[in-house]
Amino acid sequence: MIVELISVGTEILLGNIVNTNAAYLSEQCAALGLSCYYQDVVGDNEERLCETIRTALGRADILLISGGLGPTQDDLTKEAAAKVMGKALYLHEESKASIQQFFEERGLEITDNNWKQAMMPEGCIVVDNPNGTAPGVIMAENGKHVILMPGPPNEMIPMFETSIMPYLGKLQDGVIFSQTVKICGVGESKAETMVQDLIESQSNPTIATYAKTGEVHLRVTARAEDEKAARKLVKPVVKELKGRFGSHVYTTEEEVTLEKAVVDLLLANKLTISTVESCTGGLVAARLINVAGVSEVFKSGYITYSNKAKRRLLGIKKSLLVKHGAVSKETAREMAKGAALVSKADVTVSITGIAGPDGGTEEKPVGLVYIGCSVCGKVTVKEYHFRGSRAKIRESTVSAALALMRECILEYYSEVTFGSSEK
Ligand code: ATP
Ligand code: MG
Repeated sequence: MIVELISVGTEILLGNIVNTNAAYLSEQCAALGLSCYYQDVVGDNEERLCETIRTALGRADILLISGGLGPTQDDLTKEAAAKVMGKALYLHEESKASIQQFFEERGLEITDNNWKQAMMPEGCIVVDNPNGTAPGVIMAENGKHVILMPGPPNEMIPMFETSIMPYLGKLQDGVIFSQTVKICGVGESKAETMVQDLIESQSNPTIATYAKTGEVHLRVTARAEDEKAARKLVKPVVKELKGRFGSHVYTTEEEVTLEKAVVDLLLANKLTISTVESCTGGLVAARLINVAGVSEVFKSGYITYSNKAKRRLLGIKKSLLVKHGAVSKETAREMAKGAALVSKADVTVSITGIAGPDGGTEEKPVGLVYIGCSVCGKVTVKEYHFRGSRAKIRESTVSAALALMRECILEYYSEVTFGSSEK
């Protein structure tokens, strides 16, 4: 089936907000096996909105429309969609009641324009919105499905996942099942090359690659008559991918993030951790602390931005800083060692680099980062060259640090086991 995405909002056209809804929905549609040939952005103008919906209905089976469902004058999506579909609006009592409840629970006064959100096109399915006041709407006729969702992502995403996705699933023959193989420590183009033959030779399941900062996700999607059969098709491909990427695969579970994989590894090996950061200013600690249960393993996070702090907090010698500079392999090593000494953590990760936009030299350009990792006294330091803005460099550094921690812990334990089994 063919899907078309319509994002409604003058704010998007003006560049005031980034169309993250379209990015999210495209990814979801691909995973569901729906083909998306066009995405439209249209402002809050009824005539142009109607025209866009009409055009989309001429070339797609399903329209996923986000935005413009709210209470204000410029929220016109429902009115426009009903007009194109030839449906009158009526007052939907249940929606009226839930809008009333939403306001009462929050102790807010209801302004009259809010009742507009309870007006529904005849014959539609009203979709619950537990995170806001505007319900979603599904209109289906003559094999065409027009689906309206609120614009705010914190309302649209939960609605899509709980109500729209199952609806779309039912429209298709059979069942779609997908599993994601998440990889770290391998660049996007390398990862793609490593699976190119599989991508080209497979049609069911399909393999799609998604590049994230410092990570690559490979999504394996199969279609079959039931979930069991779809899972059976996915399984050998996931196994093949695990074989090709080896220990770079950190999970095949949807909800596991890279930081969670690192924390799980620390927990499994009963290791504590401390971080010591310069250019990332605490971002690595923050990513680790995203994970519930990290308190079992996380000891301290130091931000040693100045040389003085590196000396005072970590005991790094002035002569070393003068000789090699703050951004150097040697300093990263001493930072990791110093943090281990003062915090008594089993694992420490250290970061020093030049995030730019200023401060680079020919010898030490912007984007040069050293990351150190000490696991029970065994220190590894790696040099990285990242590109992009200051924010991008810092973000890439954080992912690389998490990947390096994981690698060092795995290596340490494989050596220990290897060593003992040799005896
Ligand atoms: P509201 O009840 O908040 O008015 P709405 O359904 O009418 O919701 P809009 O008015 O179009 O939606 O957008 C409300 C807000 O939702 C925008 O200011 C923006 O922050 C966010 N938003 C809307 N569309 C998108 C989009 N395509 N991508 C990301 N965010 C969006
Ligand atoms: Mg609005």
